[in-house]
Amino acid sequence: MPELPEVETIRRQLAPAMEGRRLEELAVLDPRWCMPAHPDEVADAVHGRLIEGVRRRGKYLVVVLEDAVALVMHLRMTGTLLLVPQADDTPKRPHLRVRMTLSGGKRVLFCDPRRFGTGVVLLGEEAREEYFAARLGVEPLDAAFTAEALRELAAGRRAPVKSFLLTQERIAGVGNIYADEALFRARIHPLRPVGTLKRPQLAALRDAVVESLEAGIDARGATIDDFRHADGARGSFQDRFLVHRREREPCPECGTPIQKLRAAGRGTYVCPRCQPRPRRRSM
Ligand SMILES: [Zn+2]
Repeated sequence: MPELPEVETIRRQLAPAMEGRRLEELAVLDPRWCMPAHPDEVADAVHGRLIEGVRRRGKYLVVVLEDAVALVMHLRMTGTLLLVPQADDTPKRPHLRVRMTLSGGKRVLFCDPRRFGTGVVLLGEEAREEYFAARLGVEPLDAAFTAEALRELAAGRRAPVKSFLLTQERIAGVGNIYADEALFRARIHPLRPVGTLKRPQLAALRDAVVESLEAGIDARGATIDDFRHADGARGSFQDRFLVHRREREPCPECGTPIQKLRAAGRGTYVCPRCQPRPRRRSM
């Protein structure tokens, strides 16, 4: 599933191609993409509008159009956004769900084999703020994500730190890959209740989340299954994972074989030596 670095990678590729163009046509070929809105309603709201910016919030891609109209997309499990020339043989693209035609001759295609990806149109900045306020917490690459901010979010919570990191209403954009990588960097076991972490551990975790996300962006995201760049290329962060998906391989710090366990209902990878299990009394 694309996480913050993967969506940011796509954003950086799409922004120069989309900004300053008009969205001449948005064709929703699969009505499930924008449910409960009707495809015509979505198409009419964006039709012919100038694209002012391509932004990101958490794992959402936000296409800001003139008059504060925003097209907000989420790739979910298997969505990809491909930038193609208009001459591209679009009807033959597999799993095509939405086709956007830009002025100047390019198209952006939302392809999605499992069809969980979504699109919604929000009218006005207030509607956009409300939409994200209900769904997303602090943006981890913003200056507001300090060790102190993390401490306030964590205070008194009994949730295991891994599920805390995955909760989008607290920290936006971190998913299974970057949670594992950050916890390893901070030397914290994923089942440790987040409220029991000491001040230096929370400071280390804050830095580790930022470093993991930035490393992911530098590698232009991770391609495990379906994630592709806007030009169809793959990310390379999967070749740089420290622990994620490296079961039985040596820990990069101490050489101990990495173990796989379940946390927050997800396959989770740890070094049993660098990330010691919480003692029972601290649970
Ligand atoms: Zn280790």
